[in-house]
Amino acid sequence: MSLPLIIAIDGPVASGKSAVGKRLAERLGYLFFDTGLMYRALTYLALRSGIAVTDAAALAAFAERTEIDLRPPAPDERDGRDATVLAAGEDITAGLRSSEVEANVSPVAAVPAVRAVLTAAMRRVGLRGHVVMVGRDVGTAIVPEADAKIFLTASAETRAQRRYAEVSARGEDRSYADILANLAERDRIDSSRQTAPLRAADDAAQIDTTGLALDAVVDLLARHVGATPA
Ligand code: C5P
Repeated sequence: MSLPLIIAIDGPVASGKSAVGKRLAERLGYLFFDTGLMYRALTYLALRSGIAVTDAAALAAFAERTEIDLRPPAPDERDGRDATVLAAGEDITAGLRSSEVEANVSPVAAVPAVRAVLTAAMRRVGLRGHVVMVGRDVGTAIVPEADAKIFLTASAETRAQRRYAEVSARGEDRSYADILANLAERDRIDSSRQTAPLRAADDAAQIDTTGLALDAVVDLLARHVGATPA
């Protein structure tokens, strides 16, 4: 059985997409592409430029003229990042996980014209193949022709616990309650938007990762795509 060339992993906030997708990509020797970073980058840059996240026309124009590049981290960039995000050559990676970005990214991502610009850029990368792409609409809108589609879920409490552990490990001072509230609000906006809402593709395998360790989920997905055991 030959391996799928394009692997799409979607799911709600902190469902394990990035951690699992990154390891699966490493195992297969594929590119790992976290599409959420593009929305985070655009939100970070818009906030810094003083653009209101309620101004859809301004956000759309800003998306058109903003170039965002992702590349694998260099050896001296060992802060746990999965990718380095550049805007006009400036490394903006460190600002993308702030609570300010997390509070504003879903409204930005709900603007159809913003999605059109970023989806086209993501699709170009996806169609080259040998890629594991993670996000909200990879299997439904970015590359619906993906030959393997997975939708990861977990209970809201499990996901908030995971995110709280990550944030605490980075030394950030955010409460569990704040993280749970942000997660629920982002999921609500992402699921109810008009364009490419968060949902499982009809042909996606749905996997509930509540109570499963990371390695177990990676093994499950590797088997699902037909990879030889690690
Ligand atoms: O995955 P991550 O939490 O980094 O994504 C940040 C936000 O970007 C999501 O809450 C969602 O609003 C948006 N997003 C999206 N479509 C994607 C990936 C992310 O709308 N494919």
